[in-house]
Amino acid sequence: MADTSNQAWLARSQAAVWHPCTQMQHHAQTGSPTHLPLVPIARGQGAWLYDFDGRRYLDGISSWWTNLFGHANPRINAALKAQLETLEHVMLAGFTHQPVVELSERLSALTGGALGHAFYASDGASATEIALKMSFHYWRNVGRPEKAEFLCLAGSYHGETVGALAVTDVALFKDAYAPLVRAATVVPSPDFRLAEAGESPADVARRAAAALAEHLEKHGANIAALIVEPLVQGAAGMAMYDPEYLRLARELCDRHEVHLICDEIAVGCGRTGSFFAHEQAEIRPDLMCLSKGISGGYLPLSIVLCSDTIYAAFLDDSVSRAFLHSHSYTGNPLACRAALATLDIFAADDVIAGNRRKAEQIAAALAPLAGHPQVEHLRQRGMISAFDVTTDDPYFSRKFYRAALDNEALIRPIGNTVYLMPPYIVSDAEIAHLGQAIGAALNTALHHG
Ligand SMILES: *Cc1c(COP(=O)(O)O)cnc(C)c1O
Repeated sequence: MADTSNQAWLARSQAAVWHPCTQMQHHAQTGSPTHLPLVPIARGQGAWLYDFDGRRYLDGISSWWTNLFGHANPRINAALKAQLETLEHVMLAGFTHQPVVELSERLSALTGGALGHAFYASDGASATEIALKMSFHYWRNVGRPEKAEFLCLAGSYHGETVGALAVTDVALFKDAYAPLVRAATVVPSPDFRLAEAGESPADVARRAAAALAEHLEKHGANIAALIVEPLVQGAAGMAMYDPEYLRLARELCDRHEVHLICDEIAVGCGRTGSFFAHEQAEIRPDLMCLSKGISGGYLPLSIVLCSDTIYAAFLDDSVSRAFLHSHSYTGNPLACRAALATLDIFAADDVIAGNRRKAEQIAAALAPLAGHPQVEHLRQRGMISAFDVTTDDPYFSRKFYRAALDNEALIRPIGNTVYLMPPYIVSDAEIAHLGQAIGAALNTALHHG
């Protein structure tokens, strides 16, 4: 009989699967400080993942920020089974289908009709590329081809394909490919950890907006769009900022005729306390990217929503003025059905209100860390909580990660930033479990790792 233990699966995976965001050699270095465990998962249920040896892990980061309502969610499963029996896929050029129409209508309604046109792809980086191309092509179509540059924030992350790397300011992901990338201009981040003595988060936001204003005064005529992660810059290490920045950025973009692209791939779908993060600034972007949580963490799906003005600039007899971008699985019915089932749960369960209570419980579970001598910037925005650990240990993040797994929790720090982004179905007991796992992992990583 075939060996179905963890050990067998991880050996086969190490041999045949090239894992993402990983130095593969680190998987093999058992016992070394660089060792990164590889965990074979047999099944998932609710907030929990189970391996082949009967161990379990509470998914404290929603499997890379995708899973909103738990693994093997009965409602999403049922919707997908029904869709599977009806239509698994059809090309979206020249054809359409019920899930893609309904999803587009519902997303438009969620933006109050401001972003009424939905374009589909399969992953977040593609959504970024689509938004950049749409903005660039819009300016060309309206006779302003000189507006061809992009702005992004320091520490920004918008994906890792060659086009998306142009607006991603994370050296680790970008430097090796710099010669391939037509880099955007980086403007200061409103990250409130950058506050100088006496400055409030809103002051930091105003200071960053002043730098944006100065750049736009000089170069606005050549700029197509500013792309931002509203309220929380995820891959930068959960850098959080005041909504004031988005209000000011919206005004500045209007004044200088620059598109505002909100990348809500990580922060959308209720993660920050409102359905879209940008709502907290009472603004609307010209273009919005969605992915990750929109399909409930089930299937690869991304969407770019745009305004009537942008859409209208592509309507013409000429094919070359059209947006000719496409992917084979554009608008896949199963992925759209998973997204509709996800939106149904939001509506039926009043998830946004429920998350407010959960966010308070998470805050309470992490509150004792505020007194820890090596913890700083304990912070939270809705269902994202984070803190930074002051340590010179270059192996802190993987020591913490390993120790968290030993404490039945999947918590994968970004550098020295530990964060929680649990599924919204996380229970009180599970929140307590995450709090205890963090305390124990911190102790092990700092003192015994
Ligand atoms: C994850 C992420 C992306 C990229 O999405 P992929 O599906 O990984 O390509 C883009 N922007 C933000 C803000 C993200 O968090």
